[in-house]
Amino acid sequence: MAETTAQKKLLELREEIAACTRCELYRSAENAVPGEGNPEARIMLIGEAPGWHEDKQGKPFVGNSGKFLTELLQSAGLNREDVFITNVVKHRPPGNRDPLPDEIMACAHWLERQIEAIDPDVIVTLGRFSMAKFFPGERIGKIHGQAKEVGGRYIVPMYHPAAALHNGSLRPEIEADFQKLPRLLAERDRARESEQQKSNSVSQQSLF
Ligand code: URA
Repeated sequence: MAETTAQKKLLELREEIAACTRCELYRSAENAVPGEGNPEARIMLIGEAPGWHEDKQGKPFVGNSGKFLTELLQSAGLNREDVFITNVVKHRPPGNRDPLPDEIMACAHWLERQIEAIDPDVIVTLGRFSMAKFFPGERIGKIHGQAKEVGGRYIVPMYHPAAALHNGSLRPEIEADFQKLPRLLAERDRARESEQQKSNSVSQQSLF
């Protein structure tokens, strides 16, 4: 099958990320974790940073929180292979500490290029670090599950799956938030159709 533009850009990005020395995290990490999934994905999920398992395998969300993330997607009728999953930071912070502001800033370049290549209809931020990129100064407890339309796509902040694994009371909330995803995709479809109809009627009018 022919390689799509998004696929080509993501493959190039993979190589560039694997060689990244923009911050110090590459020194202690075993592998870069650029992200994985469908280059044509309509939904992109952005976590925090790779953990131990992700560092070993070079793949995002493959530990316990990854298993839970796969279940959450399935409960919303979505397959992991259909979405694209990545993190704010592409190398594991030592000892799984929080990523530092400088590290997040150094890595933002990669995330922005991934978003541009995939051009998803919906971005799901998982946890406070990826939420902060799109909703600075907000609190996850207040805004989780509330989609905001930005430039023709929805950004939806959600709890990090690991938070729901540690605190069982968050589980029904994260499950309910994931259930909203199919409706958001349907809304983007409707918006696209009505834009198409408008542009068709404008071009018909210009014929007369
Ligand atoms: N937590 C994250 O935020 N990202 C991963 O890839 C794994 C765990």
